[in-house]
Amino acid sequence: MLKVKRKAITKNYLLFFGVSNILPIFSHKSFNPKFMEIIHVSAECYPVAKAGGLGDVVGAIPKYLNEAGHIAKVVMPMYRTKFLQNNEWEVVHKGSTNMGDYFFDYTVIKEATNKLGFDLYLIDIYGLLDRDKIYGYDDDSNRFTAFQIAFVDWLSVWLHRPDVVHVHDHHTGLIPFMMKYCYRYKHLATVPTVFTIHNAQYQGWMGWNNSVWLPPYDTWKTGLLDWQDTINPLASAVKCADRVTTVSESYMEELRYMSNGLEALFEYERGKCTGILNGIDAKVWDPAVDTYIKDDYSVKTVDEGKLKNKTRLCEQFGLDVEKPLFVFIGRLVGEKAADILPAVIGDSFYYIGRRMNFLILGSGDPAVEADFNGLMPISQGDYSCYIGYNEALSHLMYAGADFLLMPSRVEPCGLNQMYSMRYGTVPMVRNTGGLRDTVIDIAAPGGYGIVFENASVGDVSHAVWRAVNMYQNKEQFSASRKQMMNLDFSWEKSIQQYITLYQSLK
Ligand code: ADP
Repeated sequence: MLKVKRKAITKNYLLFFGVSNILPIFSHKSFNPKFMEIIHVSAECYPVAKAGGLGDVVGAIPKYLNEAGHIAKVVMPMYRTKFLQNNEWEVVHKGSTNMGDYFFDYTVIKEATNKLGFDLYLIDIYGLLDRDKIYGYDDDSNRFTAFQIAFVDWLSVWLHRPDVVHVHDHHTGLIPFMMKYCYRYKHLATVPTVFTIHNAQYQGWMGWNNSVWLPPYDTWKTGLLDWQDTINPLASAVKCADRVTTVSESYMEELRYMSNGLEALFEYERGKCTGILNGIDAKVWDPAVDTYIKDDYSVKTVDEGKLKNKTRLCEQFGLDVEKPLFVFIGRLVGEKAADILPAVIGDSFYYIGRRMNFLILGSGDPAVEADFNGLMPISQGDYSCYIGYNEALSHLMYAGADFLLMPSRVEPCGLNQMYSMRYGTVPMVRNTGGLRDTVIDIAAPGGYGIVFENASVGDVSHAVWRAVNMYQNKEQFSASRKQMMNLDFSWEKSIQQYITLYQSLK
């Protein structure tokens, strides 16, 4: 049963602020104008709902912004998640609006105890958002368009204006357009907007027949929604937001020559685009206090700690603990180049010998899932896979593995390689995007990881061979682990860049 406190429904303005919100706004903003109120709008936010890095990032940025003295909040759809069932909520707003000729009611609920370190609001739209999964439904375009309209509708009746509305990925990409150009939300046109691209492969394309869903707007502004004769929410946000960021500097550069059709747009809009590298939430991803693993460890105890976790993992999957353990964790999609891994595993066993273990965790393309399952019969205690999503297992794998494979064709930032380094696991990455910005090859001065050029079976198998050799030199291997664990991938530096960006919009 969903636990909802009813008392919070009073007058409109109290609905939007809630008493707990009024206090920080007056205490911070009225006494120190440097502090800002930033509203993040996203389809994912850890630990409420996460499908990948977007969830991790949106779950972390507000926490760190609040620690820096600002007021950051998150607004997201209300899915049927465990988090929803296990926490207390207050209703802060009820509204009605329309998506074309579809009139709907929506309810905004707020997590009652500030459990996450920031105010979390969920928008409930009966029949559209209250589903078990985040994505993957035929009507995803309707769902996220309705969510965005409900958000802007709610924002439009706030009695104060936030300093910045920060939207993430294409699911929220129509918000800058709606705030600036839809007649009924005209008074929001001066609220600055920031758009962060976590992944430009998915753009939310919709046919122009769906334009009737949007609240009425100047028809001569249709070009701001369009890219190559479709409504393209990602392109629209790049055009309409005041600032655009992406999650690493290298990826920002790459978008100008490889962005699934938007290259010319990124070239044209480069003046307002910046790359800000993601950090990792060191409170969630810390092997010394990780609640998902039983044998915690620190830099000092890394070798013993990892061995205990590796033993646990190998026992669970029937693998040989004596051999180096290579893992892959991620979505089984073309971008991640997971499709080449079955051949890499086969080639490695054939050419290098059965001197290593492989363990795969992921889900996605059914053909790739079938390929990984199809390898199970050839396992001689040196290969296994878990097809599905499993947060706890992912933590144990970062802790217990020796090497993490990331042959990604496209990697805007990549968090896995940063988590793996924090857990003393050597990342093996393709030289692209955020991987290029975070991993230095062991052969280069100050290096610690393994870097290769191409997402090809040959290049990755060669990297596996290098890794097996690296593993033999126990002293050097242990030194690399310690070196990586001491690297700083925390959010503090990146948060300062976001704050500077927000301040430039005031
Ligand atoms: P992306 O956002 O492109 O999927 P990232 O590297 O930015 O990739 O983030 C991936 C996040 O999702 C990491 O936290 C990773 O551990 C997690 N993850 C991906 N697939 C799974 C899975 N099958 N089970 C558990 N965690 C997963």
